[in-house]
Amino acid sequence: MNFMKKQAAYFISCILDFLFPQSCLVCAKYLNDEIYICRKCLNNLEIHKNESKNYMSVFSYNDTIKTLIHELKYNGRPELGYIFGKEMGKRLKEYFESGKTVLIPVPLHIKRLKKRGYNQSELICSGLSEVTGLEVRKDILVRKLNNMSQTRLNAAGRSENVKGIFDYSGAQLDKDTLIILVDDLITTGATSKEASQTLKKYGFINFFAVSVATSSNQSIMQ
Ligand SMILES: [Zn+2]
Repeated sequence: MNFMKKQAAYFISCILDFLFPQSCLVCAKYLNDEIYICRKCLNNLEIHKNESKNYMSVFSYNDTIKTLIHELKYNGRPELGYIFGKEMGKRLKEYFESGKTVLIPVPLHIKRLKKRGYNQSELICSGLSEVTGLEVRKDILVRKLNNMSQTRLNAAGRSENVKGIFDYSGAQLDKDTLIILVDDLITTGATSKEASQTLKKYGFINFFAVSVATSSNQSIMQ
């Protein structure tokens, strides 16, 4: 589906949502002023306890999160990204000062962006930014190659698959800025690691990665 068709489909779905109110994606309860997920289910999402010094995922990876991330990425529900971002922001707020810190969404290749109609990591960033006050910089990291999906690859395959896919745009940003890379789901950390290593080549030194969830207990970005 091309970009215009995707936009039209999204517009029509908004009208349908208005005419036929939605039920919660998790418990199927009728929704009032909530979008896609009811407040109770949102509050019931399990918080991920495993923290590392350079990476943090906010929710535990379970069937609920798996379904919601799938809806966000493949079922045209961009608002879920914003909802996730706000929930993540509430939990990350205390960790970061607003000074020299920026949020950088992991970019999609233009082909995938056109197909999906939005970058879910940017939407997560906008929710995160609203709560934390941190600036979002979409102009720093560039996706120059369209790699194949990581879904069916093992750890070694994933690292290989993301080699050289990013570049630095050259946009002005102080080299000692703390860069928080934002992604929807981190599995082995291969994508975040490749992104940080690309920017390291240009002199950036401080990195941290956050995601909605992690589907692996392996150490990330080492
Ligand atoms: Zn619910």
